This record gives sequence, structure tokens and C-alpha cells, in this order.
Amino acid sequence: MIQIINLKKRPVGMPTLADFELKKEDDNLKTADGEILLNTKYLSVDPYLRGRMSDAKSYVPSFEVGKPITSGIVAEVIDSKNEHFKKGDFVSGMLEWKTKQISKGEGLQKVDADKVPLSAYLGIVGMTGLTAFLGLHEIGKPKEGETLVVSGAAGAVGSVVGQIGKILGLHVIGIAGTDEKVELLTSEFGFDHGINYKTTKDMKSAIQKAAPNGVDIYFDNVGGPISDAVLFSINKFARMVICGAISVYNSTELPTGLSVQPFLVRNSALMQGFIVSNYADKFPEAMKQLSTWLSEGKLTYRETIVEGFENTPQAFLDMMKGNKKGKMVVKA
Ligand code: NAP
Repeated sequence: MIQIINLKKRPVGMPTLADFELKKEDDNLKTADGEILLNTKYLSVDPYLRGRMSDAKSYVPSFEVGKPITSGIVAEVIDSKNEHFKKGDFVSGMLEWKTKQISKGEGLQKVDADKVPLSAYLGIVGMTGLTAFLGLHEIGKPKEGETLVVSGAAGAVGSVVGQIGKILGLHVIGIAGTDEKVELLTSEFGFDHGINYKTTKDMKSAIQKAAPNGVDIYFDNVGGPISDAVLFSINKFARMVICGAISVYNSTELPTGLSVQPFLVRNSALMQGFIVSNYADKFPEAMKQLSTWLSEGKLTYRETIVEGFENTPQAFLDMMKGNKKGKMVVKA
């Protein structure tokens, strides 16, 4: 039998398991000319999927209710009638939440299981690693000695942003949601300071204390009150990379907060939205540098691996709630 996970209904507020449905179908998949048969090995669960579950206009189309969810997947080619792929190859790309599926191979990249573990192609040497590298370089424009603040710092993107900041000689402050994660920021990822936003009463003062010279780059993964607090510390010509806003992804009302304009004008500061796919021409160069740093031991990464395809919705919910460290992936 093949297992499939569909979007059952559009979530309202924080998604629940009732928004997904697990289906089973007979396994009678057969490849035609040009096709490959794929066996899912690892699935990525990411915050942007929440946006695709709603029907609001965005930079990627919404999922259809009653149809499978898609995300980054690493799969093994188990049969091929496509000259570009052979049985035993591993591929990574956007695929459906199915244990097995047919593909024409379009948009799939071959990945090498001997270089890094397969799951890493969904994280550090995949979409989230590229997001960290390109967001920081293309909008953050880091210079040695500057101060970088990262929110969502113990997550897939944030933990890599902070480490790259340290490689480039920045003073790096990370904001995360548990003491254990804050400890990880300094002990494992080399950040200079960590702040627990859930237990810190005055985030504005905590950021000012951790960044006595002010903030030159803010890599924003979360938006909301955390990002409002950072605004009080930005320096002249600060750059704010707006990578994500997970704190408002489940809002049922239009989120409100500080007016950013006075902060931007006063500091001649830049605030720019970032979408990694806009920088596709730079992926090879970024991937090369990430792989080099990884092999040199300058970069490290954490994964939380959930076992069992059928647990993918729960893994998605846990990721959204912060019940994991580093990159959340599912081993099918
Ligand atoms: P992640 O950080 O690994 O996981 C999400 C984390 O967000 C959770 O673990 C949780 O950690 C934190 N979080 C949840 N609710 C929060 C809240 N209300 N306030 C503050 N933090 C909250 O996910 P990721 O894949 O690395 O993505 C991080 C951000 O980057 C997301 O906003 C995502 O949409 C964005 N992103 C953007 C692009 C792009 O191209 N623009 C690409 C990839 C990712 P805590 O325990 O610390 O709360």
C-alpha cells in the first residue's frame, strides 16, 4: 500500500491534526517512458507550508483541499525509464507527501549520500542553508566587527545564520524560545549571546545589553513583538533581513505592532523582504561555500528526526510550536 497525506481542510489559527488526512492506496505504480518511480526517504516540514495551507495570496500557490501536501523531499529512485536517472540514485526536490510516487524528474536534483547524510539536503545543504547564506549576504551585507541579531536562532535557518555571522567575524546575538535552546546557541553554534524571549520580561533592554554597540544587521525569522524590540537598538545604516514572520503565521486577525517608519528614517536603515527562490542563480556558489565550511568543521547543524511517514503532520505541528531543535525532518 502507498500512504498519502492530504490537506483535509484549511487550518484556522494554529493547525491541528484534524486538518490533515492519511490515505492508503493500492501500490500499482508503473513507470512509462521518461518517468521514474520514487520511494520517499526524508520529508521536510517548514513554516512556509502554513501559508500554503491558507487560501491567501502569496508568493507560492495554496495547497488544494483534498490533495496531497508537497514539500522538500529526498527520495530513492527505485525504477527508471528516464535517461537522466538510474535505479539507486537519490534525488531531492519538491514532491508530494506520498511514500511512493511517479515523477518525470523535472526540478529534481541528484544528491550524494556519501557526502553528507541524506536528511542534510533538506537543511544545511538544502533550502534552509541557502536561505541563511543568501539572506545574510545579499541583504544583510555583513562586515567584520558588526553586530548581528538573529531571531528564531535555534531553528534550521537561524542556527546557520548565526554560525555564518561568527565565521565572518561578527558579534552574534540569538533569540530563541527555551533555556535549552539558548544554551545550544552559545555552546554548539558559537553565538556570543542568547536571549530566551519567553522568559525575558523586557526584550528591549535585554537586546540593548547584549548589543552595547547597537545592531547593524537583524535577521528576522519571527516578526511581531521580538522584532519590535530589536528596532530600538538599530544603528545608522542597519539592514533588516525580513526572512519570515512565524509569530503571525497563525493570526486570525491583522497583526498590529510598532510603526517602523520613524526607526527607518532616523537610522537611514533598510528593511527588505527576502525569498530564497529569487536568488536561484546564486545557489551553486552558496552551496559550494556551505559544503566547504561543513567539511572544514566551521559549520555544524542539528536535526530533529521524527520516525514514520504517518507522523509528518505531527512533526509539522511540533516544528511550528518550537518542539524541536535545529531542522525538523521526517524519516519515512
Ligand atoms: P525553524 O526556525 O526551524 O522552526 C520554527 C521555529 O519558530 C520554532 O521552532 C520556534 O522556535 C519559532 N517560533 C514559533 N512561534 C514563534 C513565535 N510566536 N515567536 C517567535 N518564535 C517562534 O524554521 P525555519 O525553517 O528555520 O524557518 C524560520 C523562518 O524563516 C520562518 O519564519 C520561515 O517562514 C522563514 N523562511 C523563509 C524563507 C524565505 O525564503 N524567505 C526560507 C526558509 C524559511 P522557538 O522555540 O525559538 O520559539
